Amino acid sequence: MTATFTHWINGQNTPSHGGEQIISYSPVDGTAVAAISRGTAEDIADAATAASIAATAWRDREPAERGRVLMRLAAAIEENVEELAALESAETGHPDWQASMEIAGVAQYFEFYGGLVNVMGGESIDLGPDRHCYTRREPFGVVGVITPWNGPMNQAARAVAPALAAGNAVVLKPSEFTSATSVLLAKLATEAGLPDGVLNVVTGDGPGAGKPLVEHPLVRKIVFTGSVRAGREIGRAAADKIIPLTLELGGKSANVVFADADLDKAVAGSLRAFTFNTGQICFSGTRLLVERSIHDEFVERLVASCNELTASGMLGPVTTAAQYDKVIEYFKIAVGEGARAATGGEPLSEEVRGNGYFVPPTIYTDVDNSMRIAQEEVFGPVLAVIPFDTEDDAVDIANDSDFGLAAGVWTKDISRALRMADRLEAGQVYVNTWGAGSVAAPFGGYKQSGYGRENGTEALHHYTQVKCVTVQL
Ligand code: NAD
Repeated sequence: MTATFTHWINGQNTPSHGGEQIISYSPVDGTAVAAISRGTAEDIADAATAASIAATAWRDREPAERGRVLMRLAAAIEENVEELAALESAETGHPDWQASMEIAGVAQYFEFYGGLVNVMGGESIDLGPDRHCYTRREPFGVVGVITPWNGPMNQAARAVAPALAAGNAVVLKPSEFTSATSVLLAKLATEAGLPDGVLNVVTGDGPGAGKPLVEHPLVRKIVFTGSVRAGREIGRAAADKIIPLTLELGGKSANVVFADADLDKAVAGSLRAFTFNTGQICFSGTRLLVERSIHDEFVERLVASCNELTASGMLGPVTTAAQYDKVIEYFKIAVGEGARAATGGEPLSEEVRGNGYFVPPTIYTDVDNSMRIAQEEVFGPVLAVIPFDTEDDAVDIANDSDFGLAAGVWTKDISRALRMADRLEAGQVYVNTWGAGSVAAPFGGYKQSGYGRENGTEALHHYTQVKCVTVQL
């Protein structure tokens, strides 16, 4: 065991009222990594109360002052990148190179919103000479943030940074599998000068801590990243309270390769699209639509690149035991439906994977878009390849999905690229690249992939509510 973590409430380590702990285990070798507090409804109540008390003074600070605190936190994250990356890697199984990159990205969130806070403003509306009318963007008060295990610190920062910049106080409930870095983030924030109570972390599971957070009367908005199942439950609870939600849910994103594309780049990008983070990314490109005339050649080249990646040992395991079982289950489902594994598709032997949750990257051909392997989110490095004949055909297949998070287009024809970008039902469209996101670029889903937007100036709209003031002169 490397460390014990309690909640972080009102600027201090705070043990759970229930006194229980949850142990997190390394997905690489099964050893215990951390013991975290199992949060209860009472712990959530303490955190929500602390946040509610702290929210007013934080909101009333000059925006530039709030920004300076966030900038100091960004610097502290950069100074502690090694410790944070090591802990993130231990709990998630992400390779070291990837974890360091992710933590650097976390610092960028606080840097970006620390600067952006200075340009938040409203508008003035002309109602004639006798009245003065203007709008203000005001924070909600206490925002509850619930995160999953696939990019824990990144997902926490993506919500916490704009929420704090906009003047809200936050109660963060990280995934029970990967909580340690979120607690450290809050501690670093306190050390960077964030007033006590403005950022609180209550660890624990969904029913014990997540549900009470959504239901707590002091919580005025929820930001959730995770499964459609939990998103739906949270949506129902939020409807009872009539509070707004930002939901970042799953995806089955289509990546469309036309015959005229730069195939070297398209092969490399399509591989990255479904294997990065071992496929555990909501916007992974897991449906590859390839123009029929190049289908066989493209698959052959992709399989060769995929096998090189497997041999390189650069892919980490999937993060949880349940996720491992889910990926293996989809291997059976795909074959049962008549798909053919061009590479992968079988669990690794225990000799090869030891106690780790390693799975082979897998490419299925002979897939029809109606199959479960083409419609359901696996959340592992598993690709379904589907041929198409025309541009219309590609659009129809790509949009024939309950999800709408991301889509990709590979072509040298700029008119076609822009036509496709218009017609694809997805919150993000990547042209001749995949996943080229930035903290500055808005991110979110269409359809069952969720609603609301993270990142960019757009996110500030989702962490504030508009007040309109009219003055009779
Ligand atoms: P999950 O949705 O159950 O858990 C995500 C977070 O929500 C965790 O912090 C969890 O404790 C909390 N939670 C769960 N139920 C809750 C409830 N009723 N009320 C409040 N909080 C609740 O996700 P999971 O079981 O860890 O993963 C299952 C599947 O979800 C994966 O296989 C994958 O398909 C998908 N997933 C998507 C993302 C994403 O980034 N969109 C991330 C993780 C998992």
